Amino acid sequence: MVLYTPGSTTSYDSSPIESGKLRYHFLGGGPEVGNVGCILEDDTGTRIQIDYGFVPKKPPIFPEEGPFVSDVILTHSHIDHVGLAPWVVASHGSKLHCTELTADILEMVWRDTYKVSSIEKQPLPWDKRDLEEALDHIIIHPFNEWTDVGSWKWRFLPAGHIPGAAMVEIQIGDRNLLWSGDFDTRTSPCVEGAKPKKSDILFIETTYAGKEQPDRATEVQRLLDRIVEVVERGGTCLIPAFANGRSQDVLRYIWDSDLDLEVHFDGMGKRMLNFYLDNPNYIRDPDTFRDIKRWARLVSSKSDRKKALEGDVIVTTSGMLDGGPAHWYLNRLRNDQRNAILLTGYQASGSGGRQLLTESRLKIFGKTVDINLEVDQFSLSNHAGHSQLVDFAMDVAASDVVLFHGEQTEKQEILKEEIEKQGSKVHQPENCKSYIL
Ligand SMILES: [Zn+2]
Ligand SMILES: [Zn+2]
Repeated sequence: MVLYTPGSTTSYDSSPIESGKLRYHFLGGGPEVGNVGCILEDDTGTRIQIDYGFVPKKPPIFPEEGPFVSDVILTHSHIDHVGLAPWVVASHGSKLHCTELTADILEMVWRDTYKVSSIEKQPLPWDKRDLEEALDHIIIHPFNEWTDVGSWKWRFLPAGHIPGAAMVEIQIGDRNLLWSGDFDTRTSPCVEGAKPKKSDILFIETTYAGKEQPDRATEVQRLLDRIVEVVERGGTCLIPAFANGRSQDVLRYIWDSDLDLEVHFDGMGKRMLNFYLDNPNYIRDPDTFRDIKRWARLVSSKSDRKKALEGDVIVTTSGMLDGGPAHWYLNRLRNDQRNAILLTGYQASGSGGRQLLTESRLKIFGKTVDINLEVDQFSLSNHAGHSQLVDFAMDVAASDVVLFHGEQTEKQEILKEEIEKQGSKVHQPENCKSYIL
């Protein structure tokens, strides 16, 4: 991990490359989750970058500064994959390639990131002008359509994970490369699962290496049972959920259950749902999501929020209780022990959700308060679990597999060994180092 200093020099090795070889270099996101940026280059001089994000902690974690690139391919709209893209445009005038839905969401993610960084006084290496310039450099690509970049051809393939998320297939000389991005082969309420594609080189994310995802149906049933329990005792469930994908998944699970519940929907997830519905090709079953939008009570004013406190379920941001309307609700719900907090994902260290789980306390509006409410956690992640990673690698059948987007722990070793047994050579790159394949 390298702390980003604008103007710092990159450790990228730009010496000549042997004919037929590929150089790759993780600016970030090699042995870590998120913070992704990777440079790919071959001997023909074609050089591109995939993703450029950062981890929005306090202080943020930034990848290394990259070398000049004319083209950046953005896999999906999560901040840890796109948060620094305006910097590349401002510095190199690069083109940003993404799917149409990702493009729509990007603008909101960047504007929100800028706002939060100003409020929290955590400066970014790009400013508002760079953001506007970046918006002018976006090029939209549908799935499955081949495009030229330098001497290569590439295309997006659906990645599952969240709506608009893409894998990248690149034809480099006589080899083809598959970049998984963040992906899931399991179908979620919002998106179909990713399909493997035979390739010579596979870059695969490893967030859940060595760790199985719980059975989805069982986990959803556990969530629904808990909601019923809380509502029957007269309480309200606060369900903090990420805006992009998770909150819509949660609404869909409740909708599908046919339980008679009053569900309020607040926070950035509402706007995200509108983006999904504006790009219906990128989501499964858009008609049902249109019904869900009419059924859920969309919170848009203070009086709506007060009404929501009397309802059964409140689905809102932020997913890790780091702010957003969730804090406003919690500040009011915390005094009645009939209420409950149902967390819908991983709570990173340093997050509000983690503090709640470990200390039963939370910093709300600058003041740390005790939260004596029932807290439960559900695993509804849309990343491939260990078995899905192994099966996917088996089907891609690449001779070289590069593991990234995951810590290089014993758990990743388990994945490495299983993929090696399939006959592939497995690579575990460090950040800030150039490798040849
Ligand atoms: Zn990611
Ligand atoms: Zn992601």
